[in-house]
Amino acid sequence: MTQSHLPLSVNRATLYLILQQHSRGGLPTVAPGFIDIHSHSDFTILINPRAESKIRQGITTEVTGNCGLTAAPLSEPHRRELLDYLLTTLGISGSEALDWGWTSFGEYLDRLRGRPLGVNLVPLVGHATLRIAVMGATNRPPTEEEMVAMEGLLDRCLCEGAFGMSTGLEYPPDAYSTTEELVRLGRVLARHDALYATHVRGEDRHLFEAIAEAVHIGEASGCRVEISHLKAGGIGNWGKASQLLATLEAARERGVEVAWDQYPYTAWGSGLIDYLPHWVGADGREKLVERLRDETVRGAIRNEIERDVQSGQHPLCTAPWEIVRIALVESPGNVALEGKSIAEIAVEQRRDPWEVVFDLLAEEKGAVKTLVFCISEDDVKTIMQHPLTVIATDGRAVAPYGVLGRGKTHPRYYGTCPRVLGRYVREEQLMSMESAIHKMTLMPAQRIGLPDRGRIAPGMVADLVIFDPATVRDEATFDDPHRYPRGIHNVIVGGQVVIDEGRHSGKMCGQILKRTGPIPRAKRS
Ligand SMILES: [Zn+2]
Repeated sequence: MTQSHLPLSVNRATLYLILQQHSRGGLPTVAPGFIDIHSHSDFTILINPRAESKIRQGITTEVTGNCGLTAAPLSEPHRRELLDYLLTTLGISGSEALDWGWTSFGEYLDRLRGRPLGVNLVPLVGHATLRIAVMGATNRPPTEEEMVAMEGLLDRCLCEGAFGMSTGLEYPPDAYSTTEELVRLGRVLARHDALYATHVRGEDRHLFEAIAEAVHIGEASGCRVEISHLKAGGIGNWGKASQLLATLEAARERGVEVAWDQYPYTAWGSGLIDYLPHWVGADGREKLVERLRDETVRGAIRNEIERDVQSGQHPLCTAPWEIVRIALVESPGNVALEGKSIAEIAVEQRRDPWEVVFDLLAEEKGAVKTLVFCISEDDVKTIMQHPLTVIATDGRAVAPYGVLGRGKTHPRYYGTCPRVLGRYVREEQLMSMESAIHKMTLMPAQRIGLPDRGRIAPGMVADLVIFDPATVRDEATFDDPHRYPRGIHNVIVGGQVVIDEGRHSGKMCGQILKRTGPIPRAKRS
């Protein structure tokens, strides 16, 4: 375990030994350890530090803190508000949340450094968390004084080890932020040459406006923009991936440093609560449950939703109940619903789908994870083939055993990298093996600013993955997600063998990585 353990660099001897060991069968592929630029393992890695669903697909480094909500920095007056959002959005239990003894981002990282970690972590700070620390979860723009406080707090987080800032602009409280507020924070990021990783304000109904806003933030502030999990979401956008990419290419031609990542699946994962107007959940979990149990409030919610549906402004317009599947709930009484769509449950129970949704959200205090099958396979392929697309899981590290083995979670948690290598490279020949590996290694390393990772060369840290290109593939499916992939033989973190012929060695060699300053312009992609 260890922070005292120094990661070993690549040298000829290690590579020779590895290749010799494997030369009995077909020739394996040795690649740099995969780098997951968009991960949500912040909390699950505290529960199971082995990060099994990641390390077993060859991921040796994860960028955490995405989509706006992170565990730090905290401020005393608003601690409870942050926890409320985290409990609803991430489904972490109250007891885990209550142990948090840190306030600043640096203290939080120190706490992590004291723990065994199965993979390396690259932490981002979440904008929603910053905003809550300064002004609570309120639905209004910041005052000038609050704005200055946010800028100062972001600067401090970057000095203390954050590699950048993330947003989750589709969800409150990030949804309450203004473009100008983000431009001002973008200037702080630009000064540090740190990354702005953004889950944009709309991925279906307002997709193109949301992309334009992300580009504007980069252009006006000078910061580097990473658009998270790029997709043409919602049935109305199917076929628009090329148009989306052309928009982004045009911005790059103007000099905006914008790039993006993608997960290789046709369903996104989100919360059932995202189908309700923001105000329903705006005052904490208790108030949410109270509102959902009140018939008058239910009527008001339905009226508002019906209006939005009629004007084409509701998620149901592009993602109807047939394609919204329950992934994860807390209550044992509702576990049987996991894996079923809202439409199926409504038919089985002979009830109106909205009544199913209101009751379920009330029983689960808002924490219901869903999968929405709302992306076209052709668009997934179009985006994947673009030379600037980096592959990412957008997933948490989980495991088939223990508390993290619950639910019909998204198969991307286990299968992202092997799926690209097996399905899209070997079977569909969408791109070469070399370019797929490049999208999982050197490209993310350069975007984040990790000069000693992402390549196999003398002096680079020995994070490596050895796999069989003839058999590598994902095994996790939407119906049976908790399955490790096939064909990933060895995974080495900092020179130590962690996965040895499919067996976890128990070694904990992950570290919290440190920023090394600005990235040379020529090395950016
Ligand atoms: Zn996101």
